[in-house]
Amino acid sequence: MSDNDRTVVIGGGIIGAMCAWFLSKSGHSVTLVDEGRFGAGCSHGNCGYVSPSHVLPLTAPGALGSTLRMMLRRNSPFTIKPRFSPSLWKWLWKFARRCNERDMLSAAQARYSLLSSSMELYLNLIESENIGCEWEKRGLLFVFLSEQEFEEFEHTEKLVRNHFGLEAKPYDSQALTDLEPALKSGLGGAWHYEGDCHLRPDKMMSELRRLLETRGVSIIENIKVKGFLRGSRRAFALDSSGESITGNTFVVATGALTPFLNSALGCKIPIQPGKGYSITMARPERCPRIPMLFEHHRVGITPMQSAYRIGSTMEFAGYDKSLNRKRLDLLRRSAEVYLHEPYCEPVEEEWFGWRPMTWDGKPFIDRSPIMDNVWIAAGHNMLGLSMAPATGKLVAELIGGEAPHIDPKPFSLARL
Ligand SMILES: Cc1cc2nc3c(=O)[nH]c(=O)nc-3n(C[C@H](O)[C@H](O)[C@H](O)COP(=O)(O)OP(=O)(O)OC[C@H]3O[C@@H](n4cnc5c(N)ncnc54)[C@H](O)[C@@H]3O)c2cc1C
Repeated sequence: MSDNDRTVVIGGGIIGAMCAWFLSKSGHSVTLVDEGRFGAGCSHGNCGYVSPSHVLPLTAPGALGSTLRMMLRRNSPFTIKPRFSPSLWKWLWKFARRCNERDMLSAAQARYSLLSSSMELYLNLIESENIGCEWEKRGLLFVFLSEQEFEEFEHTEKLVRNHFGLEAKPYDSQALTDLEPALKSGLGGAWHYEGDCHLRPDKMMSELRRLLETRGVSIIENIKVKGFLRGSRRAFALDSSGESITGNTFVVATGALTPFLNSALGCKIPIQPGKGYSITMARPERCPRIPMLFEHHRVGITPMQSAYRIGSTMEFAGYDKSLNRKRLDLLRRSAEVYLHEPYCEPVEEEWFGWRPMTWDGKPFIDRSPIMDNVWIAAGHNMLGLSMAPATGKLVAELIGGEAPHIDPKPFSLARL
């Protein structure tokens, strides 16, 4: 096979890795390039939930008001760094316009197609390829601080159950401490989505690397892609900081950094980096058994087999690379409210990642408007891990001209 028959995937996160996997399985000769290390972006230290329960996007009716109220709270888990950024204000305006039930449910339908297919694909992949990523099915517990918040969630639960058949089991305050003794008593209650799963993201990434290399995928690190060398409507090579890499087809899976390639792609992909943090440490003695989300504080706990992680919060602060001590402390202090043993020494890693946030909660999976052989798969918001296998499969189907297993229309660039 000559270099010109090569498919080049740009971005070694979970999305690029899954695109490379399904392309390679469909017979493509694949090269994957990353400006840094494979798996070191947002896909490294996230909470590890594979969670169809998160089918609803953030654009819920009333989300704007509740977010603004949350921002007024001291130590809010959601912050926007005030600055002059027309792209951010445009993004917020578009987000605000979608905070209604019709748009929320239409986005949810599209998200559900990726979420449910991904769950099935994960189960097949993990079993058939014997992937050691600490995969477990213990569900996800949505824990509420007050009884009122617990009762109010019933409306959301019903909506999700009626539209997507996903049911959660309610646990009142007493039943909750019986279910999960690691939690303090006196909390408002919880809803348990038993079908969700979790894994250790960095192990998943190193296992994917092993699988890709076994299939002959070449992974080239430390190559920053600036654009494409192209003829009229076709790219033939990367314009990059490193060696010249030619190809026949290109997939851009660059997560939150995708807008830096906007002019090369001939469109304005509206992704904002939604910064989140995590702390990974040894498992405490009274470690929770079930992964859980503290809804009031927007903080998640992942009890992995080899470690324990506190993660989340959302900061719109541009491409800020600082590891903000206050935000990390906020994770610890939030966990203290709910857990008998909220943290444990030694700390293995303190981390941040930029979630690729779009204003409608859906990724972009489509062809560049100016190049017929360049595809985009980016903008998976807070669910990139949960949506990755179906994204990879869809991309491989679209490139191969096969009938797609899910409808690609909701992910098209036509909505820009
Ligand atoms: C705190 C936190 C918790 C989260 N928890 C969950 C969760 O529990 N479940 C879930 O489903 N999702 C979760 N997410 C979201 C999830 O992590 C992301 O949606 C997902 O990792 C995005 O994957 P990606 O492959 O698109 O991006 P990335 O993993 O960031 O990969 C993109 C890659 O592209 C490379 N790249 C970028 N630009 C270029 C360029 N010009 N040239 C070459 N390479 C380039 C980068 O170096 C990077 O390696 C969480 C996120 C955070 C921050």
